[in-house]
Amino acid sequence: MIGGGAMGAAASWRLAKRGAEVVCFDRYSPPHANGSTHGESRIIRTAYFEGAFYVPLLREAFELWRELESAAGSHLLTMTGALYIGSASSEAVVGAQRSAKEHGLDIDVLSGKELRKRYRGHAARDEDMAVLDRQAGILNPEGSVTAMLKQVPDVQRDRHIESIESLASQFDAVVVAAGPWTPELVDWIPLKVERQVHAWLSIAKDADWFTPDRFPVFIRQTEQFGDVYGFPTLDGSSVKVGRHHDGDFTDPEHIKRRVDDADLDPLRLMAATYMRGVSGHVRRTVTCMYTNTPDHDFVIDFSPRDKRVVVLSPCSGHGFKFAPVIGDIAADLVLDGGTKRDISHFRAARFASPDVPDHDHDRD
Ligand SMILES: Cc1cc2nc3c(=O)[nH]c(=O)nc-3n(C[C@H](O)[C@H](O)[C@H](O)COP(=O)(O)OP(=O)(O)OC[C@H]3O[C@@H](n4cnc5c(N)ncnc54)[C@H](O)[C@@H]3O)c2cc1C
Repeated sequence: MIGGGAMGAAASWRLAKRGAEVVCFDRYSPPHANGSTHGESRIIRTAYFEGAFYVPLLREAFELWRELESAAGSHLLTMTGALYIGSASSEAVVGAQRSAKEHGLDIDVLSGKELRKRYRGHAARDEDMAVLDRQAGILNPEGSVTAMLKQVPDVQRDRHIESIESLASQFDAVVVAAGPWTPELVDWIPLKVERQVHAWLSIAKDADWFTPDRFPVFIRQTEQFGDVYGFPTLDGSSVKVGRHHDGDFTDPEHIKRRVDDADLDPLRLMAATYMRGVSGHVRRTVTCMYTNTPDHDFVIDFSPRDKRVVVLSPCSGHGFKFAPVIGDIAADLVLDGGTKRDISHFRAARFASPDVPDHDHDRD
């Protein structure tokens, strides 16, 4: 396994669980803050507006997160529900309802007025709409990686793997789960690494409005700031917010880790425009990286050059919640040569030139 972030740790756990002798190598000591799996919280949700085809994987992911909690004896998932807010024709509002209809999910559709009344921390215009997804919540990324790696007997920390070939010559199979370092190892997927910033803004008014039982995680589609998102308070005095995409393209060696007003001013303005009871005072920040495919769907596939090599690039800013099910799919691909899950949307060949072979993944 190259990488012990969310995906490598999950794949190592699922392989070890099936009895494979897995060695997980990481260039740092995970969980760490150099890649994509840090910052206290990640959203998990079910009414997936990005595509109804993700919903069966999400249902499995919830079960596997609960399995991990019992295996590790850790609390990782806090249910809060999720609000998707936007205009009536926004992708978030329309897509969430489409996914819910197709898969019979438990949602509520709220007018702007109902949103304001039920969730005091949100400012909403009458023409806004919201979808409440009840099967949603928050995952702890650092705790999850620790819990998954606890299930893996051989984790080799501070071990930089120079090339896929150097491992392929020693092992029966190699899984590449290198997050934003993937472009150093894999040249057949057109990935772009994007800088992202999270900020914790102080609660100015009433911390009760923002507790996890009262304030669902939210994604809001805005004209001014693009897609923004936020979490309930976990410390009783601040809420974490971020912008989805709109970051500078970078790489892990050159990323600007320092956060300045150019990063924070749009988040402050977003909170002043779309939230109530949150101040512009910034308590904490982190920088992180998205590793994006051109269509923002994942790549979960064999290498076109060697079927013993599996590549997991499930980021594009929304991969974390899927980690255990993606780890299990990786175990299917490595141990069975294919999977029963539908991963047809995640083929690398969708980006490749016609001479790159497209492997079959199906197993009945
Ligand atoms: C700001 C931000 C917010 C996000 N919010 C959400 C969210 O709310 N919900 C959601 O579902 N997803 C979210 N995501 C996406 C999610 O966090 C990522 O999809 C996921 O963490 C990616 O994990 P990874 O294992 O692919 O990458 P990483 O965590 O970066 O892990 C890669 C690992 O590989 C190691 N490595 C790399 N190269 C080598 C090498 N050559 N040799 C050895 N080791 C190597 C690295 O040290 C690292 O530990 C967010 C991401 C960011 C950045």
